[in-house]
Amino acid sequence: MSTYTSYYSRNKDKVKAKNGTYYENNKEKYQEYYSKNAEEKKAAQTEYRNTHIEEIAEAAKLYCKTEKGQRRNKTSSWKFKGITHTFESYNDLYDHYLTAKQCEEANCNMTLIDNSFTVNKRVLNYNYKTKEYRGIVCHTCNLKLNKIDRENEA
Ligand SMILES: [Zn+2]
Repeated sequence: MSTYTSYYSRNKDKVKAKNGTYYENNKEKYQEYYSKNAEEKKAAQTEYRNTHIEEIAEAAKLYCKTEKGQRRNKTSSWKFKGITHTFESYNDLYDHYLTAKQCEEANCNMTLIDNSFTVNKRVLNYNYKTKEYRGIVCHTCNLKLNKIDRENEA
């Protein structure tokens, strides 16, 4: 055990009380330091962003293509749209979205495929009006369900 540690463990309360009092007495100084520091940090970040526009855009483009980036894109878009669901989290909903192998619409067993512009493209379907999640469906069922929503609204 180092000298400091043993001193500290023997005088824990005393040290804590002293530090606490010191902080209390110098609170404004601390707060001023942190807020000044925060301003400088923010200014430096802004400066960096303004001078590295292309690099940042390029990095963002690459990030979007990663698994993590795609997850983040999808889940934040669902959150933004206000889609409600009964999963633990948007991440869990995304896990389900990724692993759904067949269209979940009744009487449709279409095998789902990622990133295709075909009839069996994987789509998260929800009610546009109530924002309620309905299921992971194929492109065809998605169009069909959305058409029903529009007709119901009219
Ligand atoms: Zn379907």
